[in-house]
Amino acid sequence: MKDTYRHKGLRKKLVEEISLKGIRDERVLSAIEEVPRHFFLDSSFVEIAYQDKPFPIGSGQTISQPYTVAFQTELLKVEKGMKVLEIGTGSGYQACILEKMGARVFSIERHHSLFRKTKELLERMNYKAKLFYGDGYKGLPAFAPFDRVLVTAAAPYVPEALLQQTKPGGLLVIPVGAGDTQVMKRITKIDEENTREEKMGFFRFVPLLGNKVR
Ligand code: SAM
Repeated sequence: MKDTYRHKGLRKKLVEEISLKGIRDERVLSAIEEVPRHFFLDSSFVEIAYQDKPFPIGSGQTISQPYTVAFQTELLKVEKGMKVLEIGTGSGYQACILEKMGARVFSIERHHSLFRKTKELLERMNYKAKLFYGDGYKGLPAFAPFDRVLVTAAAPYVPEALLQQTKPGGLLVIPVGAGDTQVMKRITKIDEENTREEKMGFFRFVPLLGNKVR
């Protein structure tokens, strides 16, 4: 797949659009400008890749709207070298944005077909994110603790395992709610006993589901 001047121009426009919607972190905006989002959709949808919209990626799942990706990434305050756990790999786009910002990314996907497809894509694109097929509710205890944890599907509650696997001083960003909309929460793990929670507005995600799917 090619990344042409036209694609780069479309990305610049997308960045302008999401910065007008309130994204301020220059590092997030440059990552969005650098990562070719059209690589993460089927080739026939290149036109749609640079609209600020979610889009189906198969297995009943979606690649999140670019504004939502940027908003969650901004909340996460990622610094170079941080270990970040993402729940819901999907297309792999969010994982690549985090990696572009210098994070060491670990990401879990429960759909085996998506996991395989995305693993192959990221390898072809030379990304180093470590992808896992599994149940995101459980996190990745073998690789914990993480500086940052990001959930990219609607969680009915905050899974205890994910809080446990966040480093003291670290952040967990998670959309919480079982209905049509979710509250975006940023939880700071102060220490093993104490957390602080900020509510950052309403969003709409596909649900975080239990158990692995073949
Ligand atoms: N971050 C993705 C991207 O950049 O394309 C978009 C994520 S999509 C909105 C949500 C993803 O979460 C879907 O791929 C879905 O299969 C996955 N998912 C749902 N429940 C899960 C679970 N329990 N563990 C891991 N992944 C899960």
